[in-house]
Amino acid sequence: MPTLTNADVGRVLATLATMLELDGANVFRVRAYREAARIVDSLPDPVGRLANVEGALEALPGIGRDLAQKIRDILATGTTALYDQLLGTYPLELVRLTELQGLGAKRVRALHDALGIRDRAGLEAAARAGKLRDLPGFGEKLEQKVLHSLSIAEQVSGRMLLANAWAVAHGLADRLRAVAGVTRVELAGSFRRRRDTVGDLDLLVSGGGVQPVMDAFTTHEQVAEVLARGETKSSVRLADGLQVDLRLVPAESFGAALLYFTGSKEHNIELRRVANDQGLTLNEYGLARATDTRAQPRSADVVAGRTEEEIYRALGMDWIPPELREAHGEIALARAGRLPRLIEQDDLRGDLHMHTTRSDGRHTLAEMVRAAKNRGYAYVAITEHSKSLAMAGGFDEARVRRSVAEIDAVRREVPGIEVLHGLEVDILGDGRLDLDDDALDLLDWVIVSLHSRLAQEPAEATARVLRALEHPAVCAMGHPTGRMIGTRPASPFDMEQVLERAAALGVAMEINCQPDRLDLSDAHARLAREKGVTLVVDTDAHSMANLDLMRYGLFVARRAGLTKDDVLNAWPYERMRRALRKARGGTAGTTAARAPEKGVAPANASQRKTTAEPKAPARTRAVAKPKAAARTRATAQPKAAARTRAVAKPVAAVRTRAVAQPVAAARTRAVAQPKAAVRTRAVAKPKAAARTRAVAKPKGGRTG
Ligand SMILES: [Zn+2]
Ligand SMILES: [Zn+2]
Repeated sequence: MPTLTNADVGRVLATLATMLELDGANVFRVRAYREAARIVDSLPDPVGRLANVEGALEALPGIGRDLAQKIRDILATGTTALYDQLLGTYPLELVRLTELQGLGAKRVRALHDALGIRDRAGLEAAARAGKLRDLPGFGEKLEQKVLHSLSIAEQVSGRMLLANAWAVAHGLADRLRAVAGVTRVELAGSFRRRRDTVGDLDLLVSGGGVQPVMDAFTTHEQVAEVLARGETKSSVRLADGLQVDLRLVPAESFGAALLYFTGSKEHNIELRRVANDQGLTLNEYGLARATDTRAQPRSADVVAGRTEEEIYRALGMDWIPPELREAHGEIALARAGRLPRLIEQDDLRGDLHMHTTRSDGRHTLAEMVRAAKNRGYAYVAITEHSKSLAMAGGFDEARVRRSVAEIDAVRREVPGIEVLHGLEVDILGDGRLDLDDDALDLLDWVIVSLHSRLAQEPAEATARVLRALEHPAVCAMGHPTGRMIGTRPASPFDMEQVLERAAALGVAMEINCQPDRLDLSDAHARLAREKGVTLVVDTDAHSMANLDLMRYGLFVARRAGLTKDDVLNAWPYERMRRALRKARGGTAGTTAARAPEKGVAPANASQRKTTAEPKAPARTRAVAKPKAAARTRATAQPKAAARTRAVAKPVAAVRTRAVAQPVAAARTRAVAQPKAAVRTRAVAKPKAAARTRAVAKPKGGRTG
């Protein structure tokens, strides 16, 4: 029995909740299980440790004696009697159908009862045969949606989000590094190339005896099954289903093996061509003067193999970072000595997208600012949601006005970091923004995001996004396509056209770090850079620990070939602010002349300046834009429309996403959620938000 993590236990509880929902249990019971799943998921310490302390589980909010006992059962056996009993009626394949967009427990139950559907194959067959449309509450549109969801899920089936594999991969590597005699351990494959998802893990080990290395590997606490055990290679399956292959490689060919098993296949094919052109062969054993391309070369023939660097050098090129090894022209750049110097964590000066308890975050304003400061950032933007995301505690105009003083207060409370008063404003269905111009004028930093109606026609979606970007208040577009990896398709807008417009307007495009978003994708971020768009890498943190998700967005940025000069939040504060003023319709000349902000002012002074600044962009804009225009724009946003939109917001969409979280996301969020947060939220959460969340689904909290 492998040791269960908090995420594992949380998953069993969440599955139980869905099974109970399928079973028609009362909503309070379902909610209690879901809430328990979320709480366990977000504990800072292993739940197993709490379970050993008398009364500690029972002391958690929302966990009574009954649930505490179930958690102990799960820890001891991986299951509970109730779970086993429900599993007989609702197999996991059926439970998983509730994660598909457009379906929930009620509909899955209907499919089960009316058509006998128990799994994906059955669902797909029924949908293709047109059997769904006639069920009460379904219809043809939903039938299409289900087919689409199935095709999206198919693309990532069998793969896991990188973030979900992160901890266990490093845990395994660290354990192997500790084995006596081991000199090198590397994680290769798409994990090393930092792709969004990984199909399996490839570990390469050098040094150490066969028995101790293989023992350390196959007895790791996360190993559920040993698939094969040999002298040079062993394979295991982990508790979460991930397969891991370990290869024991001699030191003299470690570099060649690392290169080979890192891939990509396309990159390796190109490299081999370069080698062949020089009369050499390249394979997992080394770069050699040899004619047999598959076999292990005689050592006398080996030109290079110990490290990747020496192999690339022998081929006449610079070492290529794994993130770039996708055959996108990196080999030509490496031969010319012109590879970009990819952005790194240390290059970042700030994080410009995060939520607090004021909307749907878990931590208070001061906690988030302090956490950003503790990570060494020079600036931070607080960006709550806007009102059409009522369920996520979105701000209306009045709330934005009150927020001004709150941001001022936190600037005083946490000195030494610049705090931008931002907001993540919804782009309404027709491209208008969710707040009026007076409210937008109070903000230093405006992100606009698509959160609903993602399934528009391409032309409509493009017009919608372009209209939103035109608004002079807009600084950046958040998680631009709205995709959720494996569960929700991207908005079908014309990316090229949008990027060209963003470049012209000086609007930054976000690479959102949430592991199930990673939006823009690497391909789109690359395109953005080519179009001259500035990118911004944001965590979209909903908790303090979420600030650590930055690495996943940086991986995307690196895969896109971005340098620190391409990324807004890698710029010093003053440069970043100047860029914003330009983006917001001010003339750079005016602002630069007005504010010769070179040289860092003492924290307090610069802070006061920031405080005073919100008005500046508005003023500059007034210069740049005739007042009439502004007024027309204001008129163009009738309140009624906004209100309708708020109502129109489909509860279902949010709910689906919450549940839809593939294995991965759930776990990541788990790590991200220290206990304090849970407690704070319970106290600090404004009533409305709390109420909506209950409806929206506890785990969902996050709207992104
Ligand atoms: Zn969002
Ligand atoms: Zn957000």
